[in-house]
Amino acid sequence: MKRIGLLTSGGDAPGMNAAIRAVVRTAIYYGMEVYGIQRGYSGLMDDDMIPMEMRSVSNIVQCGGTKLRTARCLEMLTVEGQKKAVDTIKRRGIEGLVVIGGDGSFRGAKVLSETYGIPTIGIPGTIDNDLEYTDYTLGFDTAVNTCLDIINKLRDTMTSHERISVVEVMGRHCGDIALYSGIASGAEIIVVPEIKFNLDDIVMRINRSRASGKHSNIIVVAEGVMSADEFAKQLQPYTSYPVRPTCIGHVQRGGSPSMADRMLAAQFGNKAVRLLKDGIGNRVVGIKDNKIIDMDIIEAVSMKKVFNHELYETLQMISM
Ligand code: ATP
Repeated sequence: MKRIGLLTSGGDAPGMNAAIRAVVRTAIYYGMEVYGIQRGYSGLMDDDMIPMEMRSVSNIVQCGGTKLRTARCLEMLTVEGQKKAVDTIKRRGIEGLVVIGGDGSFRGAKVLSETYGIPTIGIPGTIDNDLEYTDYTLGFDTAVNTCLDIINKLRDTMTSHERISVVEVMGRHCGDIALYSGIASGAEIIVVPEIKFNLDDIVMRINRSRASGKHSNIIVVAEGVMSADEFAKQLQPYTSYPVRPTCIGHVQRGGSPSMADRMLAAQFGNKAVRLLKDGIGNRVVGIKDNKIIDMDIIEAVSMKKVFNHELYETLQMISM
């Protein structure tokens, strides 16, 4: 394989730039050319791409966002759009493609490989950690650390005023950001889409913590359940403690990637290109039990994310 394409798609995630760097440098190491496709699948349809040289990825390992920019492209869901994308790939002599993105982006990659025979490798780049085949996705660790920083600050002010903080975090339909940031911040309660919440039980836990000498409470609510505003409105009539909602919002998507995300980016990017170099396509890379793995793209996108109930139980036992 002499020429590959690379794109970032869907929601951006810290570590995407570090992965771009790893893909470009590994490809150059093996004597391949790399085209950086801008704005995800939209750029593929518009033939918007730039050759990526060794120095084009200098000084980006520490940067949030994505140098190639990203987009959501509805045209990719249509056969006409897909054919346009394939035309560009063929015209440019691109023999393999690396797609960095979440499950939606992987569905696009699956179409390119399965229907049109373009060898494609997916790198899981999403803060949501919503892909079952991999223990972690790129950007999740940094996003959780951003939440921790904010929750720590909220704890200070909530304790001073003896309030209850309802903190809304991202994750779409997946509760992992809420679960991990809840456990790691010492939040008393998490509310996730995977488990039906019970307001009486939450009020009981708050009252029990106050009776044992606690001066504040943190409730982390995943966006897939409801907004912080809405949850605070539901809770307030049942408690005399003032409830204050905070939506962390898009800061979760930005910022310099953590060590964990930079390490994943380096290994995912390197593995993706080594697969293409060996003539292997239609795979996704990931990490399972601390080992970098690859898996059939069709199998990976058909797996249903399983919520970690053991971690949830741990939070229930130690946060009170
Ligand atoms: P994140 O989870 O961070 O939001 P994502 O990759 O899941 O990232 P989506 O918006 O779901 O984000 O998908 C990104 C893009 O992938 C879409 O805009 C579309 O171009 C393409 N895509 C999604 N689903 C499909 C599909 N079924 N077939 C072809 N292309 C798809």
